[in-house]
Amino acid sequence: MSTNKIKSLVIAGGGSAGWMTAAMLSKLFSPAIKIILVESDAIGTVGVGEATIPAIKNFNRMLGIDEADFLKFTKGTFKLGIQFDNWGKVGDSYMHAFGRVGNSIAASSEFSDASFIDYWLKYKQKYDSSDFWDFSLNYLASKDNKFCDETSYAYHFDASLYAKYLRELSEKWGVERVEGKITNVKKDERGFIKQLNLESGKEVSGDFFIDCTGFRSLLIGETLGSEYEDWSHWLPADSAIAVQSSSTKQPIPYTRSTAHKVGWQWCIPLQHRVGNGIVYSSKFMDDDEARKTLVDNIDGDLLTEPRVIRFKTGMRVEPWKNNCLAIGLASGFLEPLESTSLHLIHTGIKRFVKLFPSKENFHKERTEYNSQTNNEYQRVRDVIILHYYLNQRDDSDFWIYCREMDIPESLKQKIETFTRTSRIEQKEGDMFSKRSWQQIMLGQGITPNGYHPIVDLMPESQLEKVFAQMREKIEMELENLPTHQEFIDSFCKADSY
Ligand SMILES: Cc1cc2nc3c(=O)[nH]c(=O)nc-3n(C[C@H](O)[C@H](O)[C@H](O)COP(=O)(O)OP(=O)(O)OC[C@H]3O[C@@H](n4cnc5c(N)ncnc54)[C@H](O)[C@@H]3O)c2cc1C
Repeated sequence: MSTNKIKSLVIAGGGSAGWMTAAMLSKLFSPAIKIILVESDAIGTVGVGEATIPAIKNFNRMLGIDEADFLKFTKGTFKLGIQFDNWGKVGDSYMHAFGRVGNSIAASSEFSDASFIDYWLKYKQKYDSSDFWDFSLNYLASKDNKFCDETSYAYHFDASLYAKYLRELSEKWGVERVEGKITNVKKDERGFIKQLNLESGKEVSGDFFIDCTGFRSLLIGETLGSEYEDWSHWLPADSAIAVQSSSTKQPIPYTRSTAHKVGWQWCIPLQHRVGNGIVYSSKFMDDDEARKTLVDNIDGDLLTEPRVIRFKTGMRVEPWKNNCLAIGLASGFLEPLESTSLHLIHTGIKRFVKLFPSKENFHKERTEYNSQTNNEYQRVRDVIILHYYLNQRDDSDFWIYCREMDIPESLKQKIETFTRTSRIEQKEGDMFSKRSWQQIMLGQGITPNGYHPIVDLMPESQLEKVFAQMREKIEMELENLPTHQEFIDSFCKADSY
C-alpha cells in the first residue's frame, strides 16, 4: 500500500504558477512528500499578472499569510472591481464591481423568489434615471477613490514580488529549489515522465511532475503532446505589450480596462508604480501601432521598455496527462480582461489536492480533474467572449468581427435568457456570480425585457420606500470610508518604493 504513495513531486517552472503550487503543496504535504522546484533565471518569467479577484484572499489565508505583511512586501493596493471604458460604444463606461449590488430585498420580505435586479427593473420603469450601480458600495467607493475592507475586494500587486514572497515561504516549508535550464525530459516505457535533465548535467527525478513552464509547456505540451484547443476564433487577440510607468496620482482602487480600436488597455495601480498593457489582434493591428496606442494613453513616465508577448487563447484538453499536471500558462490562456489567470492557478491546485493521486491507478482522478478544469475554463472563456460580442463599435473590422461571430451555444443561451427574463442561469462551481453577469450584460447594453412576476406583489409605495432606504444607507456607509490612500498608509504602506 505505502509503496504506491507519491513520495516526491517535481515542479518545473518558478513563475507565479510554480511558486503558488510549491507554497500550497509544501504547506500541506512537506516533509511527508519531497518537493523540488526547478527554474531558470536565464529564461525568466512572463512578469505580468498583477490584478486579481477576491478569492485570492482565500488562497493567501490557506497559506497563513498576514495580509498587511504581504501587501507591504508586494507593494500592493486594493481592488474593488474593474472599470470598463468604451466597451459597448466609445464613450460608455461601467464597472464590474465586486460585492453586493443592492440589498437582498427578497430576504427581508415575503417576496422571496426574485433578486435585486428584478425589483430594480420595476423601479426603473418609474424612475428612469435610476442606475443599477447606485446600489453598489464598491462602485460608489471606487468613484470617490475610497476603500473599506468590509466589502468584497481583491488586490493589485507586483507579480515578481508575489513569486518572491511565496518562494521564501516555500523554502521555509522545505521546498528544494534547483536553478538551471531543463534541456531534456525523460519518459519511461509507459510514457510517464521520470526525470528532468538540466543543462548543468544535473538530473531531477520524481514520482509526479507539475508543469509550470509557462507558454513553453515543456512537459505537458512538448514532451507528452497534450492537445491544445484553440479558441482564437472567438477571442482573436493574440498579442500584448506590457510596460510599467510612474504614478502621477494616488492609486485608484480598481483596475481600468479601456477598449481601443483593436483590443483594449489595462491600467493597474500599485503603491510604487502603474502596470500597463495593451491586448490586441496582430491580424488587425501591427505592433508599432499597438505600442503607440498604449504609450499615448499612459500618464506617467515609462519605467521599462515596452515588451511584446504573443499568445494563443485556449487550453490543454488534458491538463493532467500521465503523471504530469499543468498549472498556469502551461495549461491554457485566457486574456486578463477579468483577471482570472491567478485564480485558475488557485483552483487547479485546490482541485489537485482534493483528487491527490497515488503513484499509479489514478485514471478516475485524472478524468475528473480534466473534466472539471475544462468546464471551468469554458465558463471563464464565455465571460470574456461576452465583453467582445456585446459591442456596438464601428471603428474597426475587429469589433465588427467580434459582434458578428458565432458564439458558443452556452453563452447564446445565457444572453437569451437574461434578455427575456433577467434570469442568470448558473451551474455549480461557476467562478462568476449572478451579479457579475448582470453587471456585464447591463453595462454592455442589454436591458432585460422582463422581471420576475412576484415583484408585482409588492405595493409600489413599499418598493419606493425600500429603494430610498437602500440609497440612504449606502450613502451613509460611503461617507464614513477613508480614502484608498489613507487606508493603505495606515494598514500596509510599503517601506520603500
Ligand atoms: C499580457 C498578460 C497579462 C496578464 N495579466 C494578468 C492579470 O492581470 N491577472 C492574472 O491573474 N493573470 C494575468 N496574466 C496571467 C499570469 O501572468 C500568469 O497566469 C501567471 O504569471 C503564471 O505564469 P506561469 O507561472 O504559468 O508562467 P511564467 O511566468 O512564464 O513562468 C514560467 C517558468 O518556467 C521556467 N521555465 C520555462 N522553461 C524552462 C526550462 N527549459 N528550464 C527551466 N525553467 C524553465 C521559467 O524560468 C519560469 O520560471 C497575464 C498574462 C499575460 C500574458
